[in-house]
Amino acid sequence: MNNKVLEQRELMIKLQTYDKKIIELEKVLEKVDGEITVLEQNFLDEEKKLDGLKESRLEKKKMYGMYESDFESNNQRIEKYEQHLKKLANPKDYRALQREVDETRKLNDEIQESLLTLLEEIEEFDSVIRDKEASILQLKSLTESQKEEVLKKAENEAREKTELISKKNEISENLDPKIKEIYYDTLKKSGGVAIVPVSNQVCNGCFLRIPPQVLIEIKKANELIYCPRCHRIVYLEEDRPI
Ligand SMILES: [Zn+2]
Repeated sequence: MNNKVLEQRELMIKLQTYDKKIIELEKVLEKVDGEITVLEQNFLDEEKKLDGLKESRLEKKKMYGMYESDFESNNQRIEKYEQHLKKLANPKDYRALQREVDETRKLNDEIQESLLTLLEEIEEFDSVIRDKEASILQLKSLTESQKEEVLKKAENEAREKTELISKKNEISENLDPKIKEIYYDTLKKSGGVAIVPVSNQVCNGCFLRIPPQVLIEIKKANELIYCPRCHRIVYLEEDRPI
């Protein structure tokens, strides 16, 4: 057994626990921007819906104005015709103009119907818009507090990450430069896990049953031994110093 190998392996095991946590934190931190964007987008979507409602209400209001002015000018026409009717002596002309008056009245009745319907629709929009504005106001404060929560959590995680990195660097300093290189190279190639225990003769990194010859080599600990399949550095938990 080579004590230097054992000592270096212990350092790598410690390093691995820090790296595992650091990588986990990095994954969490990477999602922060996305979480904030989702929260903001959700709020913007609601505001867009409100704008759409206001626009539809405005359309109805415009239509109402148009019908209203038609109604007014029809009324004026009726009044004018009625004045004119008084002066007409010829029955044929009288009847023709009277028909005109009746038709205009009928038209105005229809317009009035439409005006009532539009008024109801506008009132309905008013009520929906009021509700939407109230819910948006609530959503705004909720979004703000959720954003704050996400950012506060991220801030703590970033601080934790910095602390872990400084602890990791302290351990790293005691690693032999060559072993350090191997460790980080394996870490990079093996998805963030460079060193794994073998339990019940199985590699904890890839679940390969380790061949007896390799197990003997691991036990000897004369050098660093790698899993034949996942190429991670392997060790036996029971061989670790207490
Ligand atoms: Zn393996």
